Amino acid sequence: MRFNVHAGHNPAGKVASGAVGLINESTENRKVKEEVISQLRELGHTVYDCTCDNGTGQTDVLQKIVARCNDHDVDLDVSIHFNSGAGDQAGDGKATGVEAYVYSVSSAAKVYAEKICQTVAGLGFRNRGVKYSTSLYVLKHTKAPAVLVECCFVDDKDDVELYDCQEMAAAIVYGITGQRIRESEETAPAAPGEETPVGDPKELYRVQTGAYGVKENAEAMKARLQEAGFDAVIVKA
Ligand SMILES: [Zn+2]
Repeated sequence: MRFNVHAGHNPAGKVASGAVGLINESTENRKVKEEVISQLRELGHTVYDCTCDNGTGQTDVLQKIVARCNDHDVDLDVSIHFNSGAGDQAGDGKATGVEAYVYSVSSAAKVYAEKICQTVAGLGFRNRGVKYSTSLYVLKHTKAPAVLVECCFVDDKDDVELYDCQEMAAAIVYGITGQRIRESEETAPAAPGEETPVGDPKELYRVQTGAYGVKENAEAMKARLQEAGFDAVIVKA
């Protein structure tokens, strides 16, 4: 497929840059954008980077992004943003989450927005779902279907702790294409399960993601792991 991908706003520290909280939107959305582009290319897709780093103001940034987008014939425009307004700098144990905007319910990008929300939620973020806006400049003026992803919240400690730019990008790419890049030999995890330990035969290295007093919470974590593509079992101890 053919894609336009851009990070929203000017770079951090310039006029018309993005939201600032515990992390900086303009910094993080560029990291995610780079990773999304490189993963899509690795999967064989054609990608154009339509990010604007030299806008003179908000309108100029938006106009430049759209001009670049409309220079190419693509299947989808992808706009990478981070949200703000959660006001949870201390962390309450719950991520505020991911949402994705499209122009209207009849947008051809709606199906991608739904999938992106699902795959990012699979990382543990709350799925705030697909939203509609006829006033967002990029959604209104791009000629191809467009989706604007609000990855997670810059001002929610739980979102920030959960967030990893490579995982976020991989989830977005998977949401759009249904494909994942192959992990390299060094970083590929062993297959889930129990293997024969190499050293002391009494030692087993167990991977644990939580221990809960309430069974429903354990079931919820198991479901989240399975949704993210991991095998999971509940062990009572
Ligand atoms: Zn933004």
